[in-house]
Amino acid sequence: MRPDERVSDGRVTDGQVASGGAELSVVRNGHIIDPASGRDGIGDLWFRDGRIIDRPSEDEAKGPSVIDAAGRLVLPGLVDMHAHLCEPGYEYRETLESGAEAAAAGGVTGVACMPDTEPDLDDAPAVRFVRERAAGVPVHIYPIAAVTMGRAGERLTEIGELAGAGAVALSDADRTIRNPAILRRALEYSRMFDLPIIAHCEDPSLSAGGLMHEGRHATRLGLKGIPSIAEETIAARDIMLAEWTGGRLHVTHVSTAVTVGLVRAAKERGVRVTADVSPHHLALTDESLSSYDTYLKINPPLRSRADVDALREGLADGTIDAVASDHTPRSVDEKNTEFQEALPGAVGLETMLSVVHTELIAPGLLTWRDAVLRLSTAPSGILGTEGGSLAVGSPADLFLFDPEGTWTVDPASFKSRSGNTPFAGCVLKGSVTMTVVGGRIVYRCDVPESS
Ligand SMILES: [Zn+2]
Repeated sequence: MRPDERVSDGRVTDGQVASGGAELSVVRNGHIIDPASGRDGIGDLWFRDGRIIDRPSEDEAKGPSVIDAAGRLVLPGLVDMHAHLCEPGYEYRETLESGAEAAAAGGVTGVACMPDTEPDLDDAPAVRFVRERAAGVPVHIYPIAAVTMGRAGERLTEIGELAGAGAVALSDADRTIRNPAILRRALEYSRMFDLPIIAHCEDPSLSAGGLMHEGRHATRLGLKGIPSIAEETIAARDIMLAEWTGGRLHVTHVSTAVTVGLVRAAKERGVRVTADVSPHHLALTDESLSSYDTYLKINPPLRSRADVDALREGLADGTIDAVASDHTPRSVDEKNTEFQEALPGAVGLETMLSVVHTELIAPGLLTWRDAVLRLSTAPSGILGTEGGSLAVGSPADLFLFDPEGTWTVDPASFKSRSGNTPFAGCVLKGSVTMTVVGGRIVYRCDVPESS
């Protein structure tokens, strides 16, 4: 975001600035919201050696680095369960480093990256490669490993070895596992390691050739539709297999009202199912495709107003556990082409919270407490990672958010290597002003006071 477009005063620091992870630091006078520790109010947050600590005694509390958070929310770092970071293999779209910088700019301190790289993350050395490459980047990167070799849907990966190498979940990314016998075995094996299977639910025989949501707008625009049932039949099947095996299923980027209902009913039966929704599915409908803007071409597609309303309701009542970006970088050439040819997908790390704030929190559809649960606490719990909490002993992964200002989305200023956002030019409410990972400032928005 360009400083000249920011309406609010972007100053975030006062006095000494915490820069390293080791020294004693305090975030002063911010509004701390942390459901995990029950905090919700103005206060100070102390940390040292990369961890949250209790307020030290007067003697010990001398000379800390001070972060002035007056007028800011102080929140646990967001954890994004679904991002494509494209390395190895597609570095022209994104790298682990550029993706991590984009995450930091969005208040995201932990990112789970999908295995649809080149080569795929389908064996232990590939998972270790990502972990080693990610050791030096500004946020935590959690690799998701493939369920099947080459994500071809035929032969299971070595799930135990992948878990041992550090995979936090299993997924064939944006491919549905067509063969239910394979998914059954994946759910059974992953149970032993308590890893969730993250399912992209799409029956390719029903969605084949589709370019947008099947409905009256697709008819009017003359574009072949992707029917809701393409998602719902697979979601129903996968939930039944999870129920039958006792395995953990996570339905990602839920896009239809019926899928929300399937997840809600399954949870009532005690099925081990969780779900996430992407910010663009919460904010945009298929009506926006009237412009034939390829930046609105996304898979699953933007759905109807009724679907968006059901997704919002499902998020608010906890049926949908998490918001995940489905950050999918694409090059200009991959987007600036015929609608039929353009690759689907949108980047989202840098706009995720501001979109949720603008669309749901500011209008009163979602409380801040629930927003923190959906964007930080719950995804961290589903993946079994540290974070998602500002309780004493937790990692000092947090960020400051200015809820008052507005900014205009400008892809040219993104940290991401790709600018394929459906929100370009949109005015969003509230912005991330500082991000801290392991006690170290990894992002700050240095905007002159006069802006
Ligand atoms: Zn995806």
